[in-house]
Amino acid sequence: MSIKMPVPDQATLAKRTRIVAAMRSIVPGEGVIDDPDALRPWESDGLTAYRQPPMLVVLPETVEQVAAVLRWCHAEGVKVVPRGSGTSLSGGALPLADAVLLGMGKFKKILRIDYEDRIAVVQPGVTNLAITQAVEGRGFYYAPDPSSQIACSIGGNVAENSGGVHCLKYGLTTNNVLGVELVTMDGEIVRLGADYPDAGGLDLLGVIVGSEGLLGVVTEVTVRILPKPQTARAVLLGFPDAESAGACVAHVIAEGIIPAGMEMMDRPAIHAAEAFVKVGYPLDVGALLIVEVDGPAAECDHLIDEIARIADANGATSSRISQDEAQRVAFWAGRKAAFPAVGRISPDYYCMDGTIPRRRLPEVLRRMEALSQKYGLGVANVFHAGDGNLHPLILYDANIPGELDRAEEFGNDILRLCVEVGGVLTGEHGVGIEKRDLMPEMFAPDDLAQQQRVKCAFDPELLLNPGKVFPTLHRCAELGRMHVHHGQLPFADLPRF
Ligand SMILES: Cc1cc2nc3c(=O)[nH]c(=O)nc-3n(C[C@H](O)[C@H](O)[C@H](O)COP(=O)(O)OP(=O)(O)OC[C@H]3O[C@@H](n4cnc5c(N)ncnc54)[C@H](O)[C@@H]3O)c2cc1C
Repeated sequence: MSIKMPVPDQATLAKRTRIVAAMRSIVPGEGVIDDPDALRPWESDGLTAYRQPPMLVVLPETVEQVAAVLRWCHAEGVKVVPRGSGTSLSGGALPLADAVLLGMGKFKKILRIDYEDRIAVVQPGVTNLAITQAVEGRGFYYAPDPSSQIACSIGGNVAENSGGVHCLKYGLTTNNVLGVELVTMDGEIVRLGADYPDAGGLDLLGVIVGSEGLLGVVTEVTVRILPKPQTARAVLLGFPDAESAGACVAHVIAEGIIPAGMEMMDRPAIHAAEAFVKVGYPLDVGALLIVEVDGPAAECDHLIDEIARIADANGATSSRISQDEAQRVAFWAGRKAAFPAVGRISPDYYCMDGTIPRRRLPEVLRRMEALSQKYGLGVANVFHAGDGNLHPLILYDANIPGELDRAEEFGNDILRLCVEVGGVLTGEHGVGIEKRDLMPEMFAPDDLAQQQRVKCAFDPELLLNPGKVFPTLHRCAELGRMHVHHGQLPFADLPRF
């Protein structure tokens, strides 16, 4: 395990009893967990290779409690890690041994639905899927659909700027959130955005979406809801190799068609998914595309025919168009279950997330295959092909000494490759701890310093979710914004200029 977290601050640990008492006075009842056994379930998020029980867990129920917790921690120099459902794959919600883990799971209310304005105002602990479930009776839905949507919270989606299959056409979380209520580390409650798009002033909402819990704690979210499309149809396209499937993706987009979703699976992923859900995926192909279009029936019929024609021209060897809703859902079932399906063929897997220009897809997949041989580890690819957002799943066995380290190095090389071909380190899973130390591969020191100035503007003492996203934390000092509390340097372990 190559990623190092900040060394726990002994002075904070020494006053743990006082911190617990203070938290209990703010959040009474069962809202504070400090028993070591009871802290165990909170020790990790979706990046399960990394574990660290928190100093304590606090589960507030009101925004006033969130503000009071943050205000107290700010005054006392205690670090806070916000947490939604804990499904982050980049370690964004990984606890720290000397920090309060602030779980937002009790913020479960849908506060307001306005069909005329097409918005829903919800608390951050509401799951992504629950928003759609709350409005589907009236023919509406919430478009961004991460595969984890049954569990992940909308607060976590905001923090990670999460995406999903349908984001190619409907945009990521940032394109579907109109406003948030946020509590800053010093306990101030602020509102950003509005009930309508393009609220006045600087786009601070855009800064918050994707800020990975580093700038404030989201306590309310206003999302856009959309009327469900009249029809949706999907086509399953088999190709001899990823090269021809990748070329098909590029040609579909180049012809001006923006499908509702366009996903690719390579041979290992197809076989794993088919063995798991048995939906009839062709097993004699090297790559599979699932392309969905939605809208009025006549438009869907036309677009599906066009896509089938483009696929044919790019060497597709099989093509099946969904004939009814049940078949369309079945086409997706394998893709949606691909992660657990891969979990059945390998003791462990490490899910990567990088984005590349679509036209570089075949080259990147080829070079990834070479890396797979170099590291002696298998890889299965499942990804949002339309967005160029790759999700290589590196197969390894954590019980074999050294395999996790090799898997991490392999993953790092994949991300370096993404950057080399003009892509980025992350598509939708965030930087967290996982990609923190790779940030200099993509950003020059000046770029990183500018980003950290934003962090310093919201949280100059670096108390909120430290150790995540930024490879070093000594920049606030360099920028002259470091707050020294009672003579104690924040992160005294870090080298300073
Ligand atoms: C099987 C599986 C499939 C997945 N598929 C997808 C996918 O298709 N697309 C995708 O984008 N992601 C996917 N993910 C990743 C993950 O589900 C998302 O990143 C999700 O948005 C995390 O939400 P969460 O509630 O679990 O947040 P957590 O994991 O609890 O936290 C994630 C980050 O958000 C911060 N945070 C959480 N709540 C708040 C809040 N209220 N205020 C401020 N900061 C907060 C945390 O500090 C942390 O940095 C998948 C994960 C799994 C396990």
